[in-house]
Amino acid sequence: MAAAVTTAKVTGIHHWNDKLFSFTTEREPGFRFESGHFVMVGLKVNGKPLLRAYSIASPNYAEELEFFSIKVENGPLTSRLQHIEEGDEVLISMKPVGTLVLCDVRPGRNLYLFATGTGLAPFLSIIRDPFAYEQFEKVVLVHCVRRVCDLAYHDFLTKELPDDEYLGELIREQFLYYPTVTREPYEHSGRITTLIESGKLESDLGLPQLDPAKDRAMICGSIPFLKDMTALLDARGFEASPNQGEAGDYVIERAFVG
Ligand SMILES: Cc1cc2nc3c(=O)[nH]c(=O)nc-3n(C[C@H](O)[C@H](O)[C@H](O)COP(=O)(O)OP(=O)(O)OC[C@H]3O[C@@H](n4cnc5c(N)ncnc54)[C@H](O)[C@@H]3O)c2cc1C
Repeated sequence: MAAAVTTAKVTGIHHWNDKLFSFTTEREPGFRFESGHFVMVGLKVNGKPLLRAYSIASPNYAEELEFFSIKVENGPLTSRLQHIEEGDEVLISMKPVGTLVLCDVRPGRNLYLFATGTGLAPFLSIIRDPFAYEQFEKVVLVHCVRRVCDLAYHDFLTKELPDDEYLGELIREQFLYYPTVTREPYEHSGRITTLIESGKLESDLGLPQLDPAKDRAMICGSIPFLKDMTALLDARGFEASPNQGEAGDYVIERAFVG
């Protein structure tokens, strides 16, 4: 692992709240990745690399890399990483990998991106990949969090992205964002599985009911969420991508935690 790890300078940090922050780093010119991939990110602690998996939140054509992180109290990495400052160096593995990739999703009508918490990160990259809009009529990002203040990137998604110089038109015509909150009152509330079971998600979005013959999904978030979502989709006849490189009706980031 160590030989394949490089150092990258931190170029910006944004603290969303007590539990979440984002940071950007320089990107080596030869560093390539597919939207949805993750890398190992970390710090040197007592002279040794301390690394954790992180989805890349930036688009694969961006000059910098962006990451969206939890702050775990007493978390070996994030209790330290949350204090990084501009100009500090972080460690990044040079081999991006992962199962949450567009090429493993069969072509279809609408692509649903279902995320809880920091599971949003890989979708921030995917929603800025023009290939997603070539493949699907609508790209629907559903983000479920506990508190309203956990809706990181809300203003970016609703205000900045639709005005983006290059992507704005695609976003305005094909992108839908559905934030939902479970523990505070909000315009949309409840868990994603509950919203799908009741049909409320699709009716709020003005879309037809989820259909395995036409719709596709990518899922990223906590283990209980992955379990519930895969059970729900399987019961409706959606087929998971069985292995990396083999397309299915939906894909999950198999190793995600939280
Ligand atoms: C494939 C993959 C991709 C990942 N991508 C991201 C990402 O983009 N952003 C990110 O913040 N984390 C991501 N994680 C989790 C990340 O690897 C670390 O677990 C996290 O940074 C905390 O590290 P830590 O050393 O502070 O605590 P750890 O010892 O790693 O975790 C301690 C505990 O904190 C909780 N926890 C850890 N990560 C999260 C999380 N993201 N959300 C909620 N609870 C959590 C879990 O209960 C865990 O047991 C990813 C994990 C995997 C496997």
